[in-house]
Amino acid sequence: MLSLQDSVGKLKGVGPKMGENLASLDILTVEDLLTYFPSRYDEITPINLEDAKDKQRITVKGTVISEPMMSRFGYRRSRLSFRIMVGQGVAQVTFFNQPYLAKSVQINTDVTVMGTWDQSRNEIKGTKLLTSNPNEEKGMGAIYPANKHIKQATIRKLIRQAYDQYQRVIATLLPISLRQRYQLMERREMIKQLHFPDNREMAKLAQRTAAYEEFFLFQLRLQALRRAHRQENGIQILYDNEELREFIRTIPFELTSAQKRVVNEICRDLRRPYQMNRLLQGDVGSGKTIVAGIAIYAAISTGYQVAMMAPTEILAEQHAEKLARTFSGTHVNVALLTGSMKAKQHQELLNQIENGSVNLIIGTHALIQEKVDYANLGLAIIDEQHRFGVKQRQALREKGDHPDILAMTATPIPRTLAITAYGEMDVSIIDELPAGRQPIKTTWLREKQLDQAVNFLKGQLEQGAQAYIVSPLIEESESLDVQNATALAEQYQQRFAPHYQIGLLHGRMTNEEKSAVMQDFQDGKLQVLVSTTVIEVGVDNPNATVMMIYNADRFGLAQLHQLRGRVGRGSRQSYCLLVADPKTDEGTARMETMVATTDGFVVAQRDLELRGSGDVLGSRQSGVPEFKVGDPVADLKMLQIARSDAGNLLNEPGWDEKAENQPLVLYLKRHQLATHFD
Ligand code: ADP
Ligand code: MG
Repeated sequence: MLSLQDSVGKLKGVGPKMGENLASLDILTVEDLLTYFPSRYDEITPINLEDAKDKQRITVKGTVISEPMMSRFGYRRSRLSFRIMVGQGVAQVTFFNQPYLAKSVQINTDVTVMGTWDQSRNEIKGTKLLTSNPNEEKGMGAIYPANKHIKQATIRKLIRQAYDQYQRVIATLLPISLRQRYQLMERREMIKQLHFPDNREMAKLAQRTAAYEEFFLFQLRLQALRRAHRQENGIQILYDNEELREFIRTIPFELTSAQKRVVNEICRDLRRPYQMNRLLQGDVGSGKTIVAGIAIYAAISTGYQVAMMAPTEILAEQHAEKLARTFSGTHVNVALLTGSMKAKQHQELLNQIENGSVNLIIGTHALIQEKVDYANLGLAIIDEQHRFGVKQRQALREKGDHPDILAMTATPIPRTLAITAYGEMDVSIIDELPAGRQPIKTTWLREKQLDQAVNFLKGQLEQGAQAYIVSPLIEESESLDVQNATALAEQYQQRFAPHYQIGLLHGRMTNEEKSAVMQDFQDGKLQVLVSTTVIEVGVDNPNATVMMIYNADRFGLAQLHQLRGRVGRGSRQSYCLLVADPKTDEGTARMETMVATTDGFVVAQRDLELRGSGDVLGSRQSGVPEFKVGDPVADLKMLQIARSDAGNLLNEPGWDEKAENQPLVLYLKRHQLATHFD
């Protein structure tokens, strides 16, 4: 029995070595191979010479009208040339270093030649020769993304073989009704037309089918997963409303209306008997921490423990400190668990976590280590969630019996996209900054204006403010980054001595060293903090009003926005100084965007436009999977439609028992999301 799940090893010519090479392209099964789609097509529909443009890649069909000439030079190089007549025109054809073609070219026979047209010499520099063999590809030639382990031609050959051998067992996954509504292809036809298209129209239709199929399956998986979660027993956090209100009244500021809205969304979830799975999205400085604080209070007031995971020790410490203050005088007792604790202290804390004598545990990924046993974890919070991998998030989730999950992120993805892309999560958005915040003034200076920037900085320090200076980013080398930051800190120390103290922060320092420096900066013992980008995430010092970034054009927009978000966190006017002489248009566009807006959603949109969605939503960055065919930004409408179609199907009683839907049911089972159906 053939199955698309067969290993590619079953194909002729695929041994262990080739298997490895294919694996480097994420191709393990026959299905992976058949859905390894071309990145583009070369037109191989023959054209007339009059229609050819200079330097264009063309295909012509014609009759050989001169004896082919072979010349060899040296050991390996050769040239084959002949003339062909195409319609009324005549052209010279030259093939370099493909001597074996000579035997296929004979005077007065028909050939098809692909190559590059050289107008002035009336010559086609050939790359490929097709003789009139009916089995040859026609219409368009698929070009695959290849790598150094595996060649185009090999991929093409294997796909041909796999298709010929397995086409009988390619079942259509999409329900008939949807396929008919959108006039999409059967899956077998789709796969055939993507790899060996009859013409451009068929390739287009196949691509549309594949994009829809991909979005639909993705949405179906996520929504089935979500339903499965809802059917399992989650934790019901039945906090006392009045008690929670009283706690909220102790917060020293008024919540923004956006904060109130998301607090309501979260609290409603906490009360429900199924597992909360919610993403809290809010721009830097929008006040996510206090929202989390309210959820924490609710959970702990009913006797549960809460774990809060942050990506760096600095951030974990800062949260612990702040929340300890927020919760002083309540029954919340805060513990900090990090990797750099002393063994004895560490063990003691582990015991307390296990016997439930601490109830809010804040830490880094130390929270998910095997030896950490929670007494009764009711709520797990993940700050800066895009900094964690799927596995780490899953590990935290598994530390309790279906604890409620609140993931937080400052990556401002446009609302529509967040809702569709995060599928299995509910999304809450804080789209408003606390009142009284003055927008950060952003200035772009050229390197020759550096003195101006430094003078400005000095003026701010004289008024009692603090400043960050971010040293140039050197992608390739952490040690150069460190050298740079160190030199810069020394330079500023000399310049500002003895009035101001300069601190230094970089990735090669130990966690204790980093924390000590951060603490001194927080306490005002240091006025300036020179840093590599380690400062980027989450750090909060309301007294800092200047963020100066060297070689700012080397940073991405998302990162610049994060860095800028380190200032403007108090009531004072804050400034961001970008020092840059951009070498590219994109670099210039980034500087202009930063000057033009402080709105994270606008920055994100611009980032999407400049870079394309793949990079912004790349799985590493945000946890959103990358799509092979569909583009969640360009094809957003289609993604939305697929989302509602998937939901509708799942709502249809008995859909999973209909014979025609069995391939889809099997597909879901294979993706281990079968709980819903068992
Ligand atoms: P982020 O969303 O980037 O994590 P934080 O939670 O660190 O932001 O909040 C930034 C700052 O704003 C903190 O100092 C916090 O105390 C303050 N803050 C939060 N909400 C409000 C509010 N409604 N009014 C005034 N200040 C607030
Ligand atoms: Mg934060």
